[in-house]
Amino acid sequence: MTPHAGHDPALPAIVLDLLQASEQLVAIFDVHDVLRFANAPFQQAYHLHPDGRSTWVDLMRGNYDQQRGTAVHAQDFDAWLASARSRRGKLPFRAFETELHGGRWIWMTETTLASGWMLCVASDISALSQDSRSLRQTRDQALRAAQTDALTGISNRTHVVQQADALIAQGQPFVLVLLDLDHFKGINDRYGHPAGDDVLRDFARQLQASTRREDGCGRIGGEEFMMLLPGADLAQAHAVVQRLLDHVRASRPLPEAPAQGYTTSAGLALHRAGESTSALYRRADQALYRAKQAGRDRLVCDDA
Ligand code: GH3
Ligand code: MG
Ligand code: MG
Repeated sequence: MTPHAGHDPALPAIVLDLLQASEQLVAIFDVHDVLRFANAPFQQAYHLHPDGRSTWVDLMRGNYDQQRGTAVHAQDFDAWLASARSRRGKLPFRAFETELHGGRWIWMTETTLASGWMLCVASDISALSQDSRSLRQTRDQALRAAQTDALTGISNRTHVVQQADALIAQGQPFVLVLLDLDHFKGINDRYGHPAGDDVLRDFARQLQASTRREDGCGRIGGEEFMMLLPGADLAQAHAVVQRLLDHVRASRPLPEAPAQGYTTSAGLALHRAGESTSALYRRADQALYRAKQAGRDRLVCDDA
């Protein structure tokens, strides 16, 4: 008989002992991206909150403040974090090379179950040849840049469309949401293009804050954004987007115009079996158009 954890009651404890004893960095995150397990090498590389139960975002932020863990060379930490979040946990498996403070290099792998639990295992590769590292780094930076919207740090159109295609290929049901800021041209005209950019960054932050790790969110052009909600039905997606619209309506992102708010409209469509990304996009776009026609600052679900 093939050995299987489900058949051997001793295995779960032994597996944990093995992970604990491993010289590799091992960590396990739950569906809310809360750190649930970290072995000693992981704890040495990353400074952990005393309760050992922080989220991945808390962990990254705390380590950045203390100059521990992942070495972040970006000028704008929040943009770095937004970009890293836009790639984290979106696929069942991912691997990448990364630098730690103190000059160590690790090869990090992330395995994500459909349930949302994630296993992170990293090997120390500092001893491997330096020669090809800068070449690989340049390639990785180029790959990341090709997936990232430069203004906001979240996914760009290519990346979020790739994620929609992947969900369709996996047969995962999901809701596609298109969002378009209302009367955005007026903000540019009144306060200038840089202020408009600040509003776009504010919106991208709120959009990303309203998503879970497995969700997708990206800027697909101008003042238009997309959100992907795997596993959600229209009612659940409606609640998520309604909350986002409420937060956006309350936001005052311009220090030079502290009374100036802004709003957004949204169109939602639930993926149908056999439907292409572009056909789904068209339905969400038609719903968005109806939201604009009905007076903006609202969402419409395509239920046809
Ligand atoms: P509606 O409610 O119908 O969507 O009206 P709107 O003014 O938002 O739509 P419209 O398509 O007329 O204008 C979009 C504006 O977005 C025009 C364009 O100058 C501005 N825009 C596009 N990309 C950027 C950008 O990167 N930064 C800034 N500041 N403005 C941008
Ligand atoms: Mg538009
Ligand atoms: Mg608009």
